[in-house]
Amino acid sequence: MRKTFAIIGLGRFGGSVCKELIESDQEVLAIDNCEDRVNKYMNIATHTVLANAQDESTLRSLGLRNFDYVIVAIGEDIQASILVTLMAKEMGVPHIVAKAQNEYHARVLEKVGADIVVHPERDMGIRLGHKLTSNNMLDFIELSEDYSLAEIQVSYRKFFNKTIEEINFRKHYNVTIVAIRRGKNDLIVSPPPNQIILEDDVLLVVGHNDNVDYLDEKMK
Ligand code: ATP
Repeated sequence: MRKTFAIIGLGRFGGSVCKELIESDQEVLAIDNCEDRVNKYMNIATHTVLANAQDESTLRSLGLRNFDYVIVAIGEDIQASILVTLMAKEMGVPHIVAKAQNEYHARVLEKVGADIVVHPERDMGIRLGHKLTSNNMLDFIELSEDYSLAEIQVSYRKFFNKTIEEINFRKHYNVTIVAIRRGKNDLIVSPPPNQIILEDDVLLVVGHNDNVDYLDEKMK
């Protein structure tokens, strides 16, 4: 179903979100107080508005409260980002996503009503760190402080041509396989216990970070 989005701030982050939503055929109102940025997105977003989002009457006249999602993608001006998030909350916007610059900023955004707080730089840093220090981990996404979703390539001989049941991932490794990527195009979602694991399969596993790291260690 088509949803409505208002993006405030068209830096690299807000701009990328805008392009992706438009590609997915969603309706996007893009707001920025910089004329160049607004011009850049004039032919991309559904509507663009040149305005200072800190001005409450402007946000009201744009009908911000009627949008399904408001994405506060203001970067450096932390005060503006907090104020705009607060105003969106007070207007009754159902879903507010806000970009944080640091941990303190994130905590304040949550307090004033952001439903989702993203830290693109921090998250990318963590993912890259894992990629560079792990053995066969191709990607890593934190689900919470302790749990993650990781892509691990199978290079442990003992796993080759065995079923998920035989290897007993749940009991021995304490992780759940949610999908297996095989070759370029095959994705086996929610594999059954009798699914055979092949060399070079990529396992998408969910588990406690310690258990995900332990499984990755086995792939040395
Ligand atoms: P990115 O990393 O996404 O490029 P950034 O951290 O460099 O972002 P900024 O460039 O500081 O972020 O801000 C993102 C956008 O938000 C800019 O285009 C800026 O003009 C816009 N912006 C900042 N304050 C306001 C405001 N009060 N009202 C509307 N737009 C704003």
